[in-house]
Amino acid sequence: MTDERTGKLSYMVEPENVQIKEYPVPDPEPGAVLTEVERANVCGSELHIWRGHHPEVKDGALGHEALCRIEELGEGVETDYAGNPIEPGDLVAPAYFITCRKCPACQNGQFNLCENAYKHWSKSPEEPPHFHGTFGTHYYINPDQYFYKVPEGLDENIAAGANCALSQMIFGIDKVDLSEGETVVVQGAGGLGLNTIAVAKERGANVIVIEGVDGRLERAEAFGADHTIDFREYETVDARAERVKELTDGVGADVGVEVAGVPPAFSEGIHLVRKGGRYLEIGNVSPGHTTEFDPGLLTRRAIEINPVVRYDPWYLRRALEFLDEHAEDYPYDQLIDTEFDLLDVSEALERSDSREVTRATLLPH
Ligand SMILES: [Zn+2]
Ligand SMILES: [Zn+2]
Repeated sequence: MTDERTGKLSYMVEPENVQIKEYPVPDPEPGAVLTEVERANVCGSELHIWRGHHPEVKDGALGHEALCRIEELGEGVETDYAGNPIEPGDLVAPAYFITCRKCPACQNGQFNLCENAYKHWSKSPEEPPHFHGTFGTHYYINPDQYFYKVPEGLDENIAAGANCALSQMIFGIDKVDLSEGETVVVQGAGGLGLNTIAVAKERGANVIVIEGVDGRLERAEAFGADHTIDFREYETVDARAERVKELTDGVGADVGVEVAGVPPAFSEGIHLVRKGGRYLEIGNVSPGHTTEFDPGLLTRRAIEINPVVRYDPWYLRRALEFLDEHAEDYPYDQLIDTEFDLLDVSEALERSDSREVTRATLLPH
């Protein structure tokens, strides 16, 4: 018997039941990269899966936000997806999905909608190469999965979040073409919302944030929100819409961003945006949860609605560059507030779910 090297991985056997399993560490196939996970964050969408709310994923490996260290390169891999030379020991950030470039969506150039995006992620960890999720000691970056070298000197804690919220928000803000001098109203100041504020401020926009939780309101201000509207103070849609108007010379916001993740926020959005404005829908991701909606108002205001899921994978490079340039200008270091050992993954999920911790990070080594 050879003494095979093994690594640990969290395996969701069923919702709210996560076990740590041990599997042999695989050799990377041509085009793939074997990495060690430096740190992996617990993201809101993980909690969503863990509670059993995801329409399809009910078991499997967990984790998608991570910072990884290259352990072994598969045949033919010499650079990251920007052409930077890489070698074992380098820190990289992987997109959490693959880009097949062959499906109908990819053929249309809509790489963020790739139909094979989760081809590997949804596999059972029992299936080699086992390490399909980032809540483990190792992570397997598949062929066709974009990854980028992390800029020298960038705080590891901050870099670990680049491949989810920030990449998606830069992509989304591009979709609605937020420009200098415009006003954006952001519904919700969780991870997506705070990243929205930073991206919007760098574009020279005025930012209004709607939130109803103290800590989140404070963080929104710390990230540079020009105005906050406290949900508890402005209790109705009309009151909030009126307040947005007051802050925009009676016109309404040029752009609205839904990152609250609740259906009524979407119907409220069109009340906050001016005639001919743009609206970005990102927070609601669970089909089947409905809300009342006023289509007549939408027509009369002629608001353009842009829903965005995932991101074109090269946006991850832009996210890393954004952090390299601006991380120190925003309190990004406050986003992660609690570190857990990988073995305590269940506790990390439970305490994140009960909102005892804002953003948990798992340290596998
Ligand atoms: Zn995420
Ligand atoms: Zn595709």
